[in-house]
Amino acid sequence: MSGGLKAIQAAAETLDRLALDQSQPIDIYDAIDRCGLFLSFSALDGILGASLPQLHGVLVTTRRSPAIQRYTAAHELAHCVLHEDLMILDEESQILESSPAEQEQQAQLFASAFLMPPELVFRLADQYRIHPDSVTPAAVGQAARDMRVSFEAAARRLQQLERITYDDLDRVMAGRSRWRREALFGVPPVKGAHDVWGVRASSRPTKLTVTVGDQVTILFPENRTTGYQWIPSDPNAGDEAVRTVGDEFRIPRSSQTDGDQEPAVGQQGERVISLMPVQPGKTTRAWRLVRPFDPEQSIAEFTAELDALPAAAEQRRLQLLSTALDSPQPSPVQFASGDVE
Ligand SMILES: [Zn+2]
Repeated sequence: MSGGLKAIQAAAETLDRLALDQSQPIDIYDAIDRCGLFLSFSALDGILGASLPQLHGVLVTTRRSPAIQRYTAAHELAHCVLHEDLMILDEESQILESSPAEQEQQAQLFASAFLMPPELVFRLADQYRIHPDSVTPAAVGQAARDMRVSFEAAARRLQQLERITYDDLDRVMAGRSRWRREALFGVPPVKGAHDVWGVRASSRPTKLTVTVGDQVTILFPENRTTGYQWIPSDPNAGDEAVRTVGDEFRIPRSSQTDGDQEPAVGQQGERVISLMPVQPGKTTRAWRLVRPFDPEQSIAEFTAELDALPAAAEQRRLQLLSTALDSPQPSPVQFASGDVE
């Protein structure tokens, strides 16, 4: 068996051994715990991560995005599983670029297969209507976000599993810089936003689990010529946990007439409101469609519940604190690295 196939098989075996639900995003940090390895986050310089198999542990930088941190953690887990005699310090190129070294190729394949098992990839591909010859950068971006991996990692995995073609891969990679804006209904992401979420307001409440620093943009249909506008249900809602980072009214380009930006009578417009959670926790925001002179009579309402998780390193700190408070600790899954030979 080639080294690459061995690595992919080792990832599948490790997922099975840990009995993880492979239709859901993989919690790599929990998986590392359950393999009996220690995990430490640190502001590393020059390297993204390290595997220290002889010390039964891995290190991950705090200086990169959550998706890169998770990818690095899976890459280091791979080294612990596949290359248990070696201490390896990984620079960015070893984790993210194609590498001539066989052990790095193996770790990359393991990381991809571990974080993106086929069941999860196919479920999200169905959800975002990703099919051969029919895929958009926004669809790949949203699948990547849900799997908590980078755009490129998700696109390559979709091709590897033959859910998209090589031509599709080239096309979506060329459009990768546009996907966030596409997913946000054309609104540019605010500077420093992590993941992005576009939501269409509807009569049903929306529930989203996001991370502090993500941008959530909500699209409301709003027809100003009728006098109705969306207003916050609670005008006194504070900005401490969730900040409003954008609010604009616009006429969809398709319904604009040439050279005339003024809305015609009866013309449907839209309002796009962008929020950013800045503190962890649950927040509910609601809006009502009313006429300003008669704010009690709403003809539509929309509620968004945001559950904002802390950033990965902070999450990890809180997890360790809560584990220290809960005893006894669960025993780690028996982990025999000899199995993968
Ligand atoms: Zn490596």
